[in-house]
Amino acid sequence: MPSTRRPRAKPFPRTNESLLTAPRYLFVPDAETLAREASAGLEECRDRLTSLLKQRGPRTVANLLVPYDHLLLGLGELQGQSKFLFDVHPDAAVRETADKWYQEAERFATDLALNRPLYDAFVALDVTKEDADTQFAVQKILRDFRLSGVDRDEPTRARVKELRDAMTAIGQDFDRAIREDERSIQVDGPQALAGLPDDFVRAHPAGPDGKITITTQYPDAIPVLRYARDPEVRRRLQWEYLNRAHPANLETLSKLLATRHELARILGYDGFAEYIVQDKMVGSAKGVAEFLQKVRAASEAHAKEDVALLVGRKKKDVPGATSLHAWDTNYYTELVRAENFAFDAKLLRPYFEFSKVRDGLFEISRELFGVRYERVTGVPVWHESVEVFDVYDGPRRLGRFYLDLHPRKDKYTHAAASILVRGTSGNALPQAALMCNFPDPREGPALMEYLEVETFFHEFGHLLHAIFMGHGRWVKNTDDGIEWDFIEAPSQMLEEWVRDPEALRRFALHYETGEPVPADFVAKLKRADAVSRALDVQRQLVLATLSLDYYKGDPTGVDTTKSLEATYRRFPLVPFHPGTHFQCNFGHLNGYSAIYYTYMWSLVIAKDLFSKFQEAKTILDPTIAQRYREMILAPGSRKPASELVEDFLGRPLSFDAFENWLNREGR
Ligand SMILES: [Zn+2]
Repeated sequence: MPSTRRPRAKPFPRTNESLLTAPRYLFVPDAETLAREASAGLEECRDRLTSLLKQRGPRTVANLLVPYDHLLLGLGELQGQSKFLFDVHPDAAVRETADKWYQEAERFATDLALNRPLYDAFVALDVTKEDADTQFAVQKILRDFRLSGVDRDEPTRARVKELRDAMTAIGQDFDRAIREDERSIQVDGPQALAGLPDDFVRAHPAGPDGKITITTQYPDAIPVLRYARDPEVRRRLQWEYLNRAHPANLETLSKLLATRHELARILGYDGFAEYIVQDKMVGSAKGVAEFLQKVRAASEAHAKEDVALLVGRKKKDVPGATSLHAWDTNYYTELVRAENFAFDAKLLRPYFEFSKVRDGLFEISRELFGVRYERVTGVPVWHESVEVFDVYDGPRRLGRFYLDLHPRKDKYTHAAASILVRGTSGNALPQAALMCNFPDPREGPALMEYLEVETFFHEFGHLLHAIFMGHGRWVKNTDDGIEWDFIEAPSQMLEEWVRDPEALRRFALHYETGEPVPADFVAKLKRADAVSRALDVQRQLVLATLSLDYYKGDPTGVDTTKSLEATYRRFPLVPFHPGTHFQCNFGHLNGYSAIYYTYMWSLVIAKDLFSKFQEAKTILDPTIAQRYREMILAPGSRKPASELVEDFLGRPLSFDAFENWLNREGR
């Protein structure tokens, strides 16, 4: 790079119609430039804080909320883009620098949440004459300050800070132990691999001693538990899999639970579960327990039928079998899918060529939401394969997104949507990115798995949410303030278009013949998808119950293994693998703590929102989609999510659509 100057003005002209700004950190040429920019950016945040605290006289929106909001916008750019660069940048030095500055930005954010003079200033701010958006933003700012403990005395605040730092460090230990404990088993080949796909067998040749090694990594563990005919192979691998990070994480988990419990107690809550749901839709730990009870009641009868179906199939292999082992569930589910419904997911792949899927997703979302996407060229990108698009509504530009969709060395290996610039009206247009690992069309026919297509729609749902919501007045009313148990609902809902025959006909075209995917494939897919659905919901309930129970009360003296076994006993349809320690490798116990329930909670919402589309003649009805855009997506968090949902539905949230999906759809 000949110049280290930030290419701001040239590729991003500031015109009257647009407030599109260059994402400040995203296109740095090297690590030094990133460090310099990040340091300057964080310094600006500090200066903003100092100058807004120096204000004399009464607190007003203009002298407090406006500068604070600008601070959050700037800080959010540093947090969002440094985290993103760490995940995708091809240059290791840039990734390392990005990680360092992400941590710095997080530290600043924690200090900000515990800044007493800032909190006092907000307490003194009178917003009673302001509009509803402003009142709600300030209400959330005050709530978050109190949840962080800023209103407590000095020794308590100091202890809170210690506990938060400890929580982060212990949580990192917990995650690391899981990540680093890769285990394996040795089996006698090749008969031990009977039932597994040919490409799997080819990729696992026997060593000189005739033994084949299978590891606990996903690419091995998932197919083995699904397809390996030999139950002993499945049992042995699952035993290792469910004992990862054991015994190391027994003590780490106990420390994590104790630290979080103390934090909750000194902030005035019975336990961490109660504390962590204060800013969620569910509102209380009791609400979570009631929700789980409701899901249990809705799924129990069909889960019993699922078990009977699987046991019935198992009897053909094991005469007299009356129950399933933990290592049987996935295997017999796949077998019943294949035998009863003649379904093979691989048959769908030729209909999901990457470029056609992407064009179909664009076309469907354009039609539904009344927008268009314009390819942007000539702007800098972090890798040559990245594509850039602007989103327009008529002549009005709404924002920009970046697609980084194919795998490469040293890139994040999962799929995610990231907000790079949180838009607010008059300040900046929203910008977001998708990072995924779909087959690359530059390397021959890029045929996607069905689940990858679903992921693409899901993540694009997050992206559209970010673009539509980034036009309000305050950062606190964007994703920054959205309830965690709501945020997945819009993306889960967009997945529905992948299961709809009419929508599929738009893009599921054979990559060689152009023929649309046959209707009976889609019907089979739906029926196969319903096998073990209720049983899987019960398994999700075990996880959600574990997550809630570990964090509900005082963990002193609690034997986490005994609690694990007790939870499984409460859900007898879900078999337990004796002698295993899932609590040691259940990573969500760190990242999600008590709130694993959020997955199912937002699914209930997604199903209910989607029921409005099902009521129409076609789920491609643009009138409903436009209403959905205006009432659910565009408001961001300008209102509590429960109100947004009710506005759109014209009634309170209902469980019916979820129950219908659970009990009827595809059955
Ligand atoms: Zn998601």
